[in-house]
Amino acid sequence: MVTAAQVEAAINPPDFYHSALTSLVCLENTTNKGGGACYTMNTFKEIRKVCDDHKLGLHLDGARLWNALVATGQDPKEYGEIFDTISVCFSKGMGTPLGTVLTGKKEIMKKAMRVRKILGGGMRQVGYMAAAAIYALDHHVDRLKQDHDRAKELGELLKTLPYVIKVEKVETNLVIFEVVDELQVMEYCRVNNLIISNMGQGKLRLVTHLDYTQKDHVAVIQLFKNYAIQL
Ligand SMILES: *Cc1c(COP(=O)(O)O)cnc(C)c1O
Repeated sequence: MVTAAQVEAAINPPDFYHSALTSLVCLENTTNKGGGACYTMNTFKEIRKVCDDHKLGLHLDGARLWNALVATGQDPKEYGEIFDTISVCFSKGMGTPLGTVLTGKKEIMKKAMRVRKILGGGMRQVGYMAAAAIYALDHHVDRLKQDHDRAKELGELLKTLPYVIKVEKVETNLVIFEVVDELQVMEYCRVNNLIISNMGQGKLRLVTHLDYTQKDHVAVIQLFKNYAIQL
């Protein structure tokens, strides 16, 4: 995660000719490479202050914002007060067929809709996608806790296995863990119908979500245990 001091240090000097002019700070919550960790409101406020001091915009890539809200109990309204724009993703943990939505103040959204049109992204038919997103807001937010609980269970199990070197702290629905031979573990999983993402440097990533059922969960736990027996 990024601190206010790091943001301040990364601002380019006011050299109009030789460097890019720093204008926008983008944060991600929850963090992907940070293993699904959640920022505190306090860190956001400190970064907002740096942005105000240097007249920078502040954007949140909140693809997994719902996970952060469920895990921390933070107030979504506070996010609206701190960030100029927030993008949220309905097609991951929220389970809709597609849909990333950008939110922000009216004037910024007006500009954003023009840019979207210029880039060919304007569609008249988005009502179907909006309906799915509304359904997800009504039915798929509270259940994210189940994903978090399953991710924690996977993390606890992995910690006990001999081929696992390290498990990152599990806060939400991501489990990042380091193994002795990641290609071998991936191949073992693949032939057993579990496809895992490779994060590089010996690290693998598991994600729990709406379509990951209790039946899948039991099978995955057994799969990892069996590999331990094979060794
Ligand atoms: C998935 C993801 C996106 C993009 O979402 P799309 O719906 O594919 O546009 C953006 N940011 C983060 C951090 C993501 O994980």
